[in-house]
Amino acid sequence: MRTRSQKQLPTAIAGFAVASLLCGGGATAARAESPVIAINRAAGATPVTRQALRGGISVLMGSGGNITVLDGADGKFMVDAGIAVSRKKIETVLAEIGPKPLKYLVNTHWHWDHTDGNAWAHADGATIIALPATRQRMSTTTRVDDWDYTFPPFPAAGLPTALVTSSKTMRFDGETIRIRPYVVSHTDGDLSVYFAKADVLSTGDTFWNGVYPFIDYSVGGGIDGMIRAASANLAMATNRTIVIPGHGPVGNKADLVAFRDMLVTIRKSISEMKQRGMTVDQLVAAKPTASFDAKWGRFVIGPDFFARLVYRGIPTKRPRRHTHDARF
Ligand SMILES: [Zn+2]
Repeated sequence: MRTRSQKQLPTAIAGFAVASLLCGGGATAARAESPVIAINRAAGATPVTRQALRGGISVLMGSGGNITVLDGADGKFMVDAGIAVSRKKIETVLAEIGPKPLKYLVNTHWHWDHTDGNAWAHADGATIIALPATRQRMSTTTRVDDWDYTFPPFPAAGLPTALVTSSKTMRFDGETIRIRPYVVSHTDGDLSVYFAKADVLSTGDTFWNGVYPFIDYSVGGGIDGMIRAASANLAMATNRTIVIPGHGPVGNKADLVAFRDMLVTIRKSISEMKQRGMTVDQLVAAKPTASFDAKWGRFVIGPDFFARLVYRGIPTKRPRRHTHDARF
């Protein structure tokens, strides 16, 4: 079943699917190796493809997270940089887009599958823009238990140097580019990039199109923040907006609605089970996401893993105090 489903995945994410075999059981399952290693290997073996969108904007796939590229008279403006092993392949595609140099790179958040290419992008001339939390995570050793991986500090040359602390508007290539921080959601340092003239929105990993998302609790992320970010994305989109997710194919407003509704529905049912006293293992055994799994559970984050991620972020209601409590 899983094998047949994976054959139907778009080629851009099929290489990533190898990791689902390794991490579908979540943090407590035995693994042969970290999915980080498997995803790096997949990037090394996967071609980088380009899909032209609108207004000089393209999306590059095949190197971890999706990469947005705006090209125009002022040069290239890139959102996320993929995995470092893909450098030559990405540079080749950038050269095919046009001769203008890379001027800016925005990191939507700290995860290596979006920032590992920072050092080469900086060497190629890019000023790197991100939230302070992203630079902070990249500057230190960070353990992500769910990936069974400890990230050493990223190379200093690839750290973001243009830090934004609130919404910022840039003019570049005739575009109006709006960079907006989210609330704490997928991580503690997510931001979106909206190209107003082309009406193209890059969401980073606050939106995974058609697949269950990862949520990074190691840096304060959570399901409730993911739902708030999903609503924020919807508020930014019109029926014309092209939406570039962190992972999965290019989408639209209807895809944002489906993602938000999936998160809300699963959060509600898992919350009810948690309030009834279910342990996380009992929850997983009850398969609370079953009606969504055929569509959403075929990628890196399998159904059991996703159920555990949602469960973790739901607070347990405190038992009511008795009215005769001596303190009252
Ligand atoms: Zn991420």
